[in-house]
Amino acid sequence: MDLYEYQGKELFKRFGIPVSEGRLATTPDEARAAAEEIGGQVVVKAQVLTGGRGKAGGIKLADSPDEAAQHAETILGMDINGHVVRKLWIEQASEIAKEYYLSVTFDRGEKKVLFMLTKEGGIDIEEVAANRPEALARLHVDPLEGFQPYQARRLVYGAGIDEPNEQKQILAIVGKLYDAFVGADSMLCEINPLIVTPDGVVKALDSKFTVDDNALYKHADIAGMRDLNAYPPEERAAREKGVTYVKLDGEVGILGNGAGLVMSTLDVIALAGGRPANFCDLGGGGDAQGVTDALEIISADPQVRSILFNIFAGITRCDEVARGILQALDKTKIDHPIVVRFDGTNAEEGRQLLTEAGQDIIHVESTMLDAAKRAVELAV
Ligand code: GDP
Ligand code: MN
Repeated sequence: MDLYEYQGKELFKRFGIPVSEGRLATTPDEARAAAEEIGGQVVVKAQVLTGGRGKAGGIKLADSPDEAAQHAETILGMDINGHVVRKLWIEQASEIAKEYYLSVTFDRGEKKVLFMLTKEGGIDIEEVAANRPEALARLHVDPLEGFQPYQARRLVYGAGIDEPNEQKQILAIVGKLYDAFVGADSMLCEINPLIVTPDGVVKALDSKFTVDDNALYKHADIAGMRDLNAYPPEERAAREKGVTYVKLDGEVGILGNGAGLVMSTLDVIALAGGRPANFCDLGGGGDAQGVTDALEIISADPQVRSILFNIFAGITRCDEVARGILQALDKTKIDHPIVVRFDGTNAEEGRQLLTEAGQDIIHVESTMLDAAKRAVELAV
């Protein structure tokens, strides 16, 4: 899960990383009030889950509360790389003498945590890595040894930061960033730019913070930061119901159980000459309610023309899935043909339930390929 800048900064603050004072605003009036409370020059920042806000015009300095309100008016509703701005972060403006870059993430190849630090911050890190790789200091942290403070020194010297006052502050920030990374079960913590003010104060001016979805159960406070408005409506509904849903581009809606089976179902649809409209992974288990929820989400997609259920039941029971399908048909009107292929536990019972129900939109097929061909034929 990606956090907004202001949420990442809240976590930074919690772990002792210096950030500027700020307030959230969703209207020009709130932006004016926030600027008044903060006092002096402020920066009005679009809160969207994408980078490059500065270049897109989503970040503006304001010398007065009225100017902050005007900028808010311009920035709210703006589309930045497909993300509509609904929230603003109004922050006390900083004077910038230098812009550095600091991040911590996983290096999956090395199976270690990786820090990166460069004095050439503010711009895309990919650009620095491509054009001036020698300017980018890297430091791997062994997961068994954990992070050692002396390693931060290697990183800071490696990046060529030679001002003792800056060294001291950045060493502390590196340690705290590691604490934040581990403490929040993060997958990426990026500060770009990490600034030095003319007075020599180092602080995080931006934050990019990604938390491992699989660890959110341990962090109720962070899980609560998820903004459902940032997702398309079907994805929102899927999340609320705890269903894994991915939107694609074609005509056949797909329900399977297990990521591997779903992936091969996508391939078989392609082999049969069709294109998947989306897919839901019912996962293990797959009780009737889960099936009903998934079917409702899949069929709400206006691109769907036919639906393919591909179930290979182990723990899942095909009769339970069949009940879910019939329950969904009772509850909601589904106009699209539903092709069902059952294999594994209680496959025969499941097929029988569907046949006995006598619903003409249900088509039972016995192999995955036949089912895919049928679903593609019916998607007209
Ligand atoms: P991004 O474009 O989405 O990465 O957003 P950032 O938060 O990194 O801001 C982009 C740029 O806006 C920074 O690199 C700064 O140059 C500028 N900026 C942001 N906040 C301030 C501020 O408080 N004072 C000044 N002078 N510039 C700022
Ligand atoms: Mn940035």
